[in-house]
Amino acid sequence: MSFDIMKGLKTTLKNMGKKPTTVKYPEQERELPPRFRGRHVLHRYENGLERCVGCYLCAGACPADAIYIEAEENTEENRVSPGERYAKVFDVNLLRCIFCGYCEAACPTGAITLEREYKLASYYPEDLVYHKEQLLEPIGQATVGSAAVWFEQPPPPDEAAQPVPQEAGVFDGSEASAAAVGLGTLETEREVWIVDPEQDEDRRPFEPQEQDEKREVAP
Ligand code: SF4
Ligand code: SF4
Repeated sequence: MSFDIMKGLKTTLKNMGKKPTTVKYPEQERELPPRFRGRHVLHRYENGLERCVGCYLCAGACPADAIYIEAEENTEENRVSPGERYAKVFDVNLLRCIFCGYCEAACPTGAITLEREYKLASYYPEDLVYHKEQLLEPIGQATVGSAAVWFEQPPPPDEAAQPVPQEAGVFDGSEASAAAVGLGTLETEREVWIVDPEQDEDRRPFEPQEQDEKREVAP
């Protein structure tokens, strides 16, 4: 028996009595670390309104281009969120997502958080594009999710306030707030929409809205 085989057997014998580091999933599951980031959840307020004000900040912050939003104006007859707009469509493509949490950090209203759901496997890629209907908390549920950690922290110093884009379309140094981003008067940049059919087969096709068509014909 060669020396190498002896060395290998020594390692085997050394580890034979040790507790295994693997678990028998799915019968057995590991305890997740406290800062684990799983599938996204969209939250509601206590009164049932959606926290999301359709501001696109999460989509803008996402380094993987995994979030697709179509915002719609609230009306008195159909008020969905407390802001001027709400997300009519909110898709997260989990095939692109790298679970970095930037979307959660960018959201001014605590509307989106990454929670502890990780059983996300599927045979079909389209199953991994999660739509608003799947992401949103059911009516009657109003949690803040993992954003609770921010409530437990002391408030940040004034100099750490984050600037947000204002009506002028530039970062003007104002503090982030739902009111600031919920203005709803800025025209949506066409680039925000996902229009490349080759790269984005799994997303909703871009259908020009009535106002887009008008804009195109305008001089
Ligand atoms: S977790 Fe990161 S990659 Fe995933 S949707 Fe949010 S910002 Fe994008
Ligand atoms: S940043 Fe928050 S409020 Fe804005 S679109 Fe994303 S989830 Fe909605």
